[in-house]
Amino acid sequence: KVRALLLSTLMLPFFGVKAQKKTINQRVDSVLNLMTLEEKVGQLNQYSGKEVTGPLSERKTNQLNDIKHGLVGSMLNVKGVKATREIQAVAMQSRLKIPLLFSLDVIHGYKTIFPIPLAEAASWDLDAIRSSAHIAAKEAAAAGIHWTFAPMVDVGRDPRWGRVMEGAGEDTYLGSLIAKARVKGFQGEKLGGTDAVMACAKHFAAYGAALGGRDYNAVDMSDNMLWETYLPPFKAAVDAGVATFMNSFNTLNGIPATGNSYLQRDILKDKWGYKGFVVSDWGSIGEMVAWGYAANNTDASLKAITAGSDMDMESHAYITSLAQLVKSKKVDIKLVNDAVKRILYKKFELGLFDDPYRFCNETREQQVLNDPENKLIARDVAQKSIVLLKNELSLLPLSKTTKTIAIIGPLVKAKRDLEGSWIRQSDTTLVTSLYEGIRNKLDRNTKLIYAQGTDIMGKDQNNFDEAVATAQKADVVIMVLGESWDMSGESKSRTDIHLPGRQEELFKAISATGKPIVVVLMAGRPLIFDTISDKAQSIVYAWWLGAEGGNAIANVLFGDYNPSGKLPSTFPRSVGQIPLSYASYSTGRPIKNLNDIKYKSAYIDMPNTPRYTFGYGLSYTTFSYENLKLNKDLINKNEVLSIEFELTNTGKYAGEEVVQLYLQDPVASLARPVKELKAFQKIALKPGESKIVKFAITNEMLSFYNRNLQWVSEPGQFKLMIGSASDDIRLQSVFRLK
Ligand code: BGC
Repeated sequence: KVRALLLSTLMLPFFGVKAQKKTINQRVDSVLNLMTLEEKVGQLNQYSGKEVTGPLSERKTNQLNDIKHGLVGSMLNVKGVKATREIQAVAMQSRLKIPLLFSLDVIHGYKTIFPIPLAEAASWDLDAIRSSAHIAAKEAAAAGIHWTFAPMVDVGRDPRWGRVMEGAGEDTYLGSLIAKARVKGFQGEKLGGTDAVMACAKHFAAYGAALGGRDYNAVDMSDNMLWETYLPPFKAAVDAGVATFMNSFNTLNGIPATGNSYLQRDILKDKWGYKGFVVSDWGSIGEMVAWGYAANNTDASLKAITAGSDMDMESHAYITSLAQLVKSKKVDIKLVNDAVKRILYKKFELGLFDDPYRFCNETREQQVLNDPENKLIARDVAQKSIVLLKNELSLLPLSKTTKTIAIIGPLVKAKRDLEGSWIRQSDTTLVTSLYEGIRNKLDRNTKLIYAQGTDIMGKDQNNFDEAVATAQKADVVIMVLGESWDMSGESKSRTDIHLPGRQEELFKAISATGKPIVVVLMAGRPLIFDTISDKAQSIVYAWWLGAEGGNAIANVLFGDYNPSGKLPSTFPRSVGQIPLSYASYSTGRPIKNLNDIKYKSAYIDMPNTPRYTFGYGLSYTTFSYENLKLNKDLINKNEVLSIEFELTNTGKYAGEEVVQLYLQDPVASLARPVKELKAFQKIALKPGESKIVKFAITNEMLSFYNRNLQWVSEPGQFKLMIGSASDDIRLQSVFRLK
């Protein structure tokens, strides 16, 4: 009977005439009608399968048993065609044969490791970011995965927080565009292709604003800040069609995000009309007990389902208590039905009811995972993510005929570190270290001499002499310094974001030789490196660039790629300045000159300015910005202001410039930031070439959330700023809104 009913979910027989295809909603309803309460709750249950493919432990036996009884809707951490096929086959033994969803944190690559997301954000190249996500999705889908827990679209303004590496930096506008690019990259145009996966916008919401940068901590935030700065990237993900959302570990103004119906029901599902489903973060339903927001797991289930959390990741709260809560009338079955329908809908969209093994094809797995094209794309994105912070006397690019190059530091030969945090399986045989990248590039006439000098966390200076002696034999020194890969990522917050260990001292020792030094820094966050900022001739910020990092950096160092990245996050001078963003406020006591700090909003021991600001990044060439023209100086709300200017490559190298457009509303019903990024373009020009760059300013770009949380623009004057960085404004003007 069940089988017949299931078959009938495919086609809706039309009275005597001919069969017509059912809509997904109709198919979902017919499945729902067959389900027992326990099976419904089962769809809301997600287990981690780390052990499922290992020996038969008690846990594994229990999980397989639950799957067989229709008590599991999704597995995370089961990967590969063989494993997913095996586990899906168990689901096919269940009464209703509802397919499982296989999910995994595919954050910056599956097999081919791409730069960490923060690095990619520095490319300001939305096509490159999209293709990186697309390749990651293609590889994961070929390995049986249906769903990635990415992108993380949390705005991150505190570099102490280890998870800044996983986001797009500090800016809401840039972050929103990147959110969209990543969702489209992961999912393709429409769900259902076997070369794409479902994306997941996480962590809803305000996870990046945890107190003191301490991961998982409480968030206390005004509604204006929430709506204006933290929510837009999530809204952008919704607009891009993101299939799923993940809620968050933190509280927001006292209420855990997981139990927060303002976030999940009022905003996401009602106001934004979101039709996908929300998965909890790992154990976050159960964690509401530790927060002191729920008495026990049962109470937590009640609060989570009421607030709109659809799927329980690894709290085992729904599966153990939700059915009883429904039976005792504490939870309305409608809430459960709604959650189940949202999940079944996605399973239909992915085509899993038609063929639960659609993503299980060994030939495709082999072919896609070994496609050499993937590496090339990874290299392209990696070089676009590099930011040139300093280049005194144009030391870079280095000549390929340099006789002797000393390459010094703890990360010269690093491979695992280049992969960064959040990869599913390290394979360093696929990684090119910077040492190898440089060696590959230069012929044997260049001598490459190496000294490690110190460990990343080194405590002594025992090997400094050898490093200094190595430097002394060279024409130029490349130092490769930074954090280790596991110093950023989840639960990797730091109070001190200086270069760890004795690395700055090693730099000082090498610097004392008087040799020209290029410093390459690798890290998962903005770091502080005072002496290097002051004394190194050239500084290249290379984050964690993935498997092709070594080749990408070598391309930049020797001029085969002209760096074009711009910082997506402010680099502070001191941890004491955090939080620090370019979108700051003028204050009633603005600082006009740095010596005049009395009774001003300033520190007595350090400037307010960052070391490197948002949007900053150099090139081997230079660009001029000229002839700004506005088609009007007064517009109505329904009019568009057209502006244009001339950008010229005034240097010797072909290069790309990210032109940035900032706006300020100087007088408004709420004090507004001194500038906000509202548009940008990345433009390639040959030496001497010019281009007329055009932007359109719309009412939307002039709007903000007022005191009543209405999205409005207010008449009056606006300031327009165009430049090469948030603190390098080249063209300015004003206009008025009627
Ligand atoms: C993280 C999520 C991740 C999940 C599953 C959690 O600890 O916060 O971002 O998707 O684990 O691995």
